[in-house]
Amino acid sequence: MKILPLGGAEEVGRSAFVIEAEEGRVLIDYGVKLEGGALPRYPDSPYKYINKLDLILISHGHLDHIGYVPYIYRKHKVPWYSTPPTLDIGEILWKDSIKLAKLKGVTDHYSQKAVERAKEYWYPGLYHNQIKHNNISFRFWDAGHIIGSAGITLNLEGKRVHYTGDIGYRSVLHPPYEHPGEVNYLFTEATYADKDHPPIDNLINELMELIYEALDNGGHALIPAFAVGRTQELIKIIRERDKHIPIFVDGMGKTVTRVYLKYGSYVKDFEHFEQDIMSVNIVDNIRVRKRALRDPAVIITTAGMLDGGPVLYYLPNLKPNSKIILTGYQVEGSNGRRLLDEGRVEIDGQSFKIDHEVHHLDFSAHVGRKQLIDFANRANPERIFLEHVDKEKVYAFKEDLENMGFNVTVLKRNSVEKLRE
Ligand SMILES: [Zn+2]
Ligand SMILES: [Zn+2]
Repeated sequence: MKILPLGGAEEVGRSAFVIEAEEGRVLIDYGVKLEGGALPRYPDSPYKYINKLDLILISHGHLDHIGYVPYIYRKHKVPWYSTPPTLDIGEILWKDSIKLAKLKGVTDHYSQKAVERAKEYWYPGLYHNQIKHNNISFRFWDAGHIIGSAGITLNLEGKRVHYTGDIGYRSVLHPPYEHPGEVNYLFTEATYADKDHPPIDNLINELMELIYEALDNGGHALIPAFAVGRTQELIKIIRERDKHIPIFVDGMGKTVTRVYLKYGSYVKDFEHFEQDIMSVNIVDNIRVRKRALRDPAVIITTAGMLDGGPVLYYLPNLKPNSKIILTGYQVEGSNGRRLLDEGRVEIDGQSFKIDHEVHHLDFSAHVGRKQLIDFANRANPERIFLEHVDKEKVYAFKEDLENMGFNVTVLKRNSVEKLRE
């Protein structure tokens, strides 16, 4: 059995791994990597190395895991599985990236036709069902990260092989990740290998204090948020504490929220969540957008790293005493990073100084270091393979795990790793 990483190795982004076993060749995830305002980076084509794929499995609907799937379907026909919400979110993201690619003149991309073809070859993978396709047997587990997110256990050459995908443990909309039990080979994300997250209640207290402070002083609380997962979590978090505070939701998060409403069984306490969604103002035209800026209010909008999206409309038009509250990871080179480090953003190549207070709260949807180690201990694998983690931190984590007695390998892009002879 061999693994060939095409991306997502010694980096976070463009996750893509081919596992080759006696039963066949499986591609797990096929994402893109966003780097600030620059063009996305793509994983290599599996067909550069092999002539045939038997199956594709997609863990969840974040760009770095599903973003480049239609590229395969420009020329190839491969059955693929994900949970149903993952497909719906994928479609939203693909359409958006076709639009962006056209705007930026990217040539190495896919068309709507490829998207349609990808949809033709899709099969639903429901949590806990043991599925067998083309000799390859696998099972999806709830990964507790975003709606429909899955960890994947494959049975190959008599071994249990587990891919964690992205795992979460403190979502207000989903239960914590499910554990597959003991496995032989563990492919684990390690995004936060170097830190533990603060308890979610402390963060929520901090968020609410900042919001009240801004609104009581006549300002806005502008919360740039990722469309998939974070936007919906924030609505729930704020509404759980305050039923009346005005909330406006703008950008692609609106469309993704519809997927959350469509798949109620994937959302914890769905009835209340539905009520929470009904209570917010969805910004669907310029009039509502202006209304959002008229009185003190919470504004949740894309892009989460301030590289495009309606957030750039709000930013220069905020009332005095407003606060900007970042809730996600801000990649080097992104406007969000610039805002944190230099108090300015770039819009259409021009630099704008931002005078409002900026805060950064760690609402990560990933597990922290402690949970990563717990996961590995319970899985008790013969070998661990580290992926979805920055190069700067992965080697220290490898050493830590080795000191605990694990056999650990850091996956490298385009470098074949033999699991067994
Ligand atoms: Zn993710
Ligand atoms: Zn990811």
